Amino acid sequence: MTSTSSPATLLWFRKGLRLHDSPALHAAIQGSAVLYPVFILDPNIVRPDKLGVNRLAFLLGTLRELDAELRRRGSRLTVLRGEPMPELERAMREWKIGRLVFEADTEPYAVTRDAQARELAGRLGAQVLSPGGHTLYDPGVLLEAAGGALPKSYGGFGKLVAKVGEPPAPLPTPERLPPAGEVADEGIPTLEELGFTGHAAGLAFCPPGETNALDMMDAWVSQPQRVAAFEKPATDPSAYAPAATTRLSAHMKFGSLSARTFYARLRQAEREAGAHSQPPTSLVGQLLWREMFTTIGAVTPNYDRMVGNPICRQIPWDDAPDLLAAWTEGRTGYPWIDAAMRQLNTEGWMHHLARHSVACFLTRGDLWQSWVAGQQVFDRLLIDADWSVNAANWMWLSASAFFHSYERVYSPVAFPKKYTGASSYIRHYLPELAQVPEQWLLEPWKMSVSEQRQAGCLIGRDYPAPVVDHAVARDRNLERMRAAYAAGKLG
Ligand SMILES: Cc1cc2nc3c(=O)[nH]c(=O)nc-3n(C[C@H](O)[C@H](O)[C@H](O)COP(=O)(O)OP(=O)(O)OC[C@H]3O[C@@H](n4cnc5c(N)ncnc54)[C@H](O)[C@@H]3O)c2cc1C
Repeated sequence: MTSTSSPATLLWFRKGLRLHDSPALHAAIQGSAVLYPVFILDPNIVRPDKLGVNRLAFLLGTLRELDAELRRRGSRLTVLRGEPMPELERAMREWKIGRLVFEADTEPYAVTRDAQARELAGRLGAQVLSPGGHTLYDPGVLLEAAGGALPKSYGGFGKLVAKVGEPPAPLPTPERLPPAGEVADEGIPTLEELGFTGHAAGLAFCPPGETNALDMMDAWVSQPQRVAAFEKPATDPSAYAPAATTRLSAHMKFGSLSARTFYARLRQAEREAGAHSQPPTSLVGQLLWREMFTTIGAVTPNYDRMVGNPICRQIPWDDAPDLLAAWTEGRTGYPWIDAAMRQLNTEGWMHHLARHSVACFLTRGDLWQSWVAGQQVFDRLLIDADWSVNAANWMWLSASAFFHSYERVYSPVAFPKKYTGASSYIRHYLPELAQVPEQWLLEPWKMSVSEQRQAGCLIGRDYPAPVVDHAVARDRNLERMRAAYAAGKLG
């Protein structure tokens, strides 16, 4: 098969599930007589032990929306199911594909897979185009501007970005697309067809698909004063309906919202507002955290592990599966921690400061379990689970990289007292504590037995006793952190 001046093109969607600001889509339609937009449901990823029902439901909803938007423009989405390389090869041979286009992806699984796709395309005589699109800048551009060594601090990264200048402006959404070739596929499956059960409660808070993403973004940027006043540390982690932050992270993960579009609209809102908050706490600042963590993740070996990870402090974590399970399932006996973990289990999301609390609790704060184990739980349950962002934030919270003030430990009792909404948040996600008096809600084990009876919540029966004593665990763990820092070993 040789490429022609007007080749049949296969546009392979993975992330970047949108038509607005899509460099891959623009590259694919350029001079294409026929365009096959394809998504492959990869059995290495679509597995109940790898992703929770919330994320899969979000993905399937996003694909349905993508298909609808493609059809509106004279095209359609073909969904294939199976190992990517055989599926791709079969499709490319059958459809006589002369050009393969996909958005560049820097995650290790994707890098290996995409190298195989390039090799396959080479064998079949097809051209490959793989523009960026997931981040504000191509990681290579930032790496080159940094002289090959990216700064690991936010301040340093901010200077680098300032040196490079504003990110490229978003691309327009094409109004018409080349016709899609005739294909018989099985369509977009349901959760049940894929062997998943359970209710995806999180979609009520973050509905899937590009249109919802743009609407959710518009709701924020159409209020310039709200954007201007946004200070991340001041947002309330106990606010859940609605959340205190944009809740756009799942759209950013799957690319149903473009980072560049979000950034451009935020900058416009800031200009309209006049005085406004600044990075790192502003909304633009949040996008720069994402940019920094993704860019560093693209060039750091073993970013999602401790061992062999050159930026990660080596810490002798314990391995206690019972403690990990109690944390994962929201039964540590600390209501603030358990409410957040139940929110994660039922809805696939929690606020950033709740993530701080539970991640600190699992690692250096209380349970002394490896951040890698916590990262894997988040990776399965979060709708927004993002390989680099997740790893980086876990390294941060466990004081393994990026953040080193390990003596600053979140108390699972004192911290939530800052938020008036903490009480209703806890009662909502832990209905077994609904009748516990306000005075004991954060420390229910301190109730007398008669108070427990009155509240219909016997500690040890209806709600667990604390798995550790926070004050004791914190002091012991501080000693262990001191020792790990004194040893000064990186991966
Ligand atoms: C232990 C831990 C694990 C995390 N894992 C993930 C993850 O897997 N995927 C993920 O998207 N975020 C992760 N975060 C970062 C952050 O908590 C979420 O991005 C944020 O809470 C999502 O809510 P939002 O969209 O309302 O955020 P907003 O405050 O509205 O921020 C807007 C966007 O900025 C980006 N962003 C915000 N905070 C961060 C941050 N700290 N690092 C990188 N990008 C950020 C996200 O794309 C987010 O949608 C993690 C944080 C911690 C502490």
